[in-house]
Amino acid sequence: MRVSSVLVVGAGLAGAMAVTALRDQGFAGDVTLLGAEGLEPYDRPPLSKELLTRTAPAWLRDEVGADLAGADIALAEPATGLAVHDDGVTLTTAARELRADAAVLATGAQAVSRPGWEGALTLHTAVDAEALRAAVRPGARLVVVGAGWIGAEVAGVAAGAGAHVTVVEAADAPLEAALGEVGALTTAWYAAAGVRLLLGTRVDEVRADAVVLEDGRTVPADVVLVAVGARPRTGWLGDALPVAPDGALVVDERYRVVRADGPLHHVVAVGDVARRRSPRHGWVSGGHWDGALRGPAAAVRTLLGVPAGPVDDPAPYVFSTQLGHELALYGHPLPTDDVVLRRGDDGFTALWFRPGSSELGAVLAVDRPRDVATARRLFTGPALPRLDRDAAADDARPLKAAALA
Ligand SMILES: Cc1cc2nc3c(=O)[nH]c(=O)nc-3n(C[C@H](O)[C@H](O)[C@H](O)COP(=O)(O)OP(=O)(O)OC[C@H]3O[C@@H](n4cnc5c(N)ncnc54)[C@H](O)[C@@H]3O)c2cc1C
Repeated sequence: MRVSSVLVVGAGLAGAMAVTALRDQGFAGDVTLLGAEGLEPYDRPPLSKELLTRTAPAWLRDEVGADLAGADIALAEPATGLAVHDDGVTLTTAARELRADAAVLATGAQAVSRPGWEGALTLHTAVDAEALRAAVRPGARLVVVGAGWIGAEVAGVAAGAGAHVTVVEAADAPLEAALGEVGALTTAWYAAAGVRLLLGTRVDEVRADAVVLEDGRTVPADVVLVAVGARPRTGWLGDALPVAPDGALVVDERYRVVRADGPLHHVVAVGDVARRRSPRHGWVSGGHWDGALRGPAAAVRTLLGVPAGPVDDPAPYVFSTQLGHELALYGHPLPTDDVVLRRGDDGFTALWFRPGSSELGAVLAVDRPRDVATARRLFTGPALPRLDRDAAADDARPLKAAALA
């Protein structure tokens, strides 16, 4: 089917890059971009890492060259419903109905909280960052619920600015959901940064002036940040498309939304809203900035029917600056993987091998730019790379020397 009009839903990184890709790939039809925040697309990673030093949004046109020229843009008109037809889609907003041949769904994710915790802040938008910035002052008592990526980043920034920070984490280690046992290697960073870390501790209640823990202890607070994860933002779709139990739209390796009757040729989903089948890594959930940056070009190629070449399969990649350390995670660690560590004076690198095999599923490099460069190169082939485990663990040898043919 020839596509002459495309609706892009969501004006975050993935939506902005989808509009940019449509133009870059020579699409001359109508493009409409709908957003919900009333703001031009901006970058989210600085919201935590530069919470106190960057008070204006980092616009994506400056950061990554997002180009919305020529699109019909409504930045404060959230989509409220979608109907999928054989030959197009109809999208509903509070004000109108829009019809198009194809749609890019890029509504991202939203921070998760709990009923009864309304007094706490979350951090996903520029407005959230403004509220948090106003509350994090020298001497303020900040309680962060969750020692994940964002919790760790904010805790370090706030402590560095003189706030008294306590992080409460239900698991036995920071970053446990993402890194498993390797997360424990970051535990010492908290005390070193002047942050109190309570592990294996659950929050029962969030009050205006305190957090009450399940064990009965109370942690006084001037401000509470709940940083316990994000959920794909698909509620607006109703029953129009199937979603996974965690809310994600399931897409195939070419970003086509998969229904019971197969992948749709004219509806793609990309960025945090989607869980994609990667030929190299299996199912990959959103939450990766790099996936929202690079995925849209491939998704748009699918929509425009550009002759299918090999699948464009970017490796999952997460970066983080937390508590004085630089982290880069490539690939997809599985709880069943064997972990091999390279350790030196400068930092460490963790390697996740598929059980009993030389197949490498993921690499985390901490404060090690050299291993980051190698990790990036390792995950560019069509299959998982193979490494000699003993050679990989030998920190005296470069990581690339461990690669097997
Ligand atoms: C504080 C913070 C720090 C981060 N740091 C890192 C990092 O260091 N490294 C990393 O890899 N990743 C990081 N991330 C994750 C990264 O920012 C995301 O993966 C990326 O922003 C995903 O882009 P997206 O466009 O898919 O979704 P989003 O950025 O969530 O954008 C989706 C947009 O769609 C809009 N929308 C929602 N519903 C509708 C609707 N019904 N109609 C129209 N519009 C709608 C939303 O308002 C939003 O503007 C961070 C995220 C946050 C919040």
